[in-house]
Amino acid sequence: MSDLKQSRPKGTQDFVPPDSERRRRAEDRFRHLAEACGYREIITPTFEHTAVFVKSSGETSDIVTKEMYSFKDRAERDLTLRPEGTPGAVRAVLENRLRLPCRLYYVGPCFRYSRPQKGRYREFGQLGVEALGEASPFVDAEVIFLGSAFFASLGIRDCTTQVNSIGCRECRTTHRDALRKYLLDRKDQLCEDCRLRIDRNPLRVFDCKVETCRHAVAGAPTPRQYLCPSCQAHFAGVLAGLDRHGLHYVVNDRLVRGLDYYNRTTFEYISASLGAQDSLGGGGRYDYLLEEFGGPDTPAIGFALGLDRALLAAPVAPAPPRRSLAFVVWLTEAETGAAEKLADRLRADGIPAQVDYDSRKVKGQFRSADAAQAACCIVIGPDELAKGVYSLKDLATGEQREVPSDTISAEVRALFRD
Ligand code: AMP
Repeated sequence: MSDLKQSRPKGTQDFVPPDSERRRRAEDRFRHLAEACGYREIITPTFEHTAVFVKSSGETSDIVTKEMYSFKDRAERDLTLRPEGTPGAVRAVLENRLRLPCRLYYVGPCFRYSRPQKGRYREFGQLGVEALGEASPFVDAEVIFLGSAFFASLGIRDCTTQVNSIGCRECRTTHRDALRKYLLDRKDQLCEDCRLRIDRNPLRVFDCKVETCRHAVAGAPTPRQYLCPSCQAHFAGVLAGLDRHGLHYVVNDRLVRGLDYYNRTTFEYISASLGAQDSLGGGGRYDYLLEEFGGPDTPAIGFALGLDRALLAAPVAPAPPRRSLAFVVWLTEAETGAAEKLADRLRADGIPAQVDYDSRKVKGQFRSADAAQAACCIVIGPDELAKGVYSLKDLATGEQREVPSDTISAEVRALFRD
């Protein structure tokens, strides 16, 4: 193969019909659910100044240390393709001085340089919400419920919702000291990375997948054992809210999430059917992030759901054999104008319509209609024009009949099955 490769870059995907349409339907469903809870869409750039991510995700996070697609532009600016949605959304809220509280959602691609495997790509879709300026634990519960409602709407049945609290700055400091001491006593059982983490960010050891590390932290002090009364009350409120929504959840003491900006509530959605990359999505509170960006002290919570993994976990509905598409067929050159006009009229009536201008023969046009998986053909010939009718053929049943020209739109619509 030449250098102009005919294969896509490693870790990227093509979405061709009908997969592209299935993906779009899932995005639409998310938009609908988010808007039903008062969220409005925010669209931010696909790349940001690198500092935006370093500052928020955390200098020691895996994303920042290993996975960012960073580059210098022609004016030597340090830029990065967004590895996640929250930092850009927060930057945009402050830059555009949005009035708080505000609820925002986003849909779009993210980029991470990691080893591709099933459910892990270098470009992938995320769907997220951010509720800014709301401190109540019931907001946490509503956000968590919204994410699970999205997975349920796709027909995913094996999604488990895990929740935890990692506390505020104060509880985190006392916990961190205790955890450090515990880890130092077991330093020789930890992997290279985790040894460095003891000093830099000991909480991250809970995320390590290395077996000896997992074993070593089995009895480690958990964040929840160090919650102050106010954080305890907040977490109790979250759980009470989840109970009211009727959401089944599991409290996971080790769920700390991989990003630095979280505090108090953390949560994750897990699917047993996904294999190694089993996280469908996750999120948490980030009450300090806006202030760290130079904004006002603002409580906030959000999640990011993985679109690719959601679609892997969701059952694939059998595709309807025919599309809601009408194919207008002309018999002789003399009827091409009428065919064009009819297609325009159908489109104006909200009916997708297509004409094959290339095939001179009817047979060729019918073949095109079949390739396009059209639901029906509307045939126009000299006889039809003279009589003021169309011949309408249902391609699913093969049945053909004459239809008066003024009722054609209603007749075609009646043939659409989805
Ligand atoms: P994170 O904030 O890293 O937990 O990401 C949120 C969600 O995005 C994850 O639960 C996944 O569903 C999805 N996700 C993250 N990284 C990838 C990736 N490399 N490929 C596909 N999906 C991903």
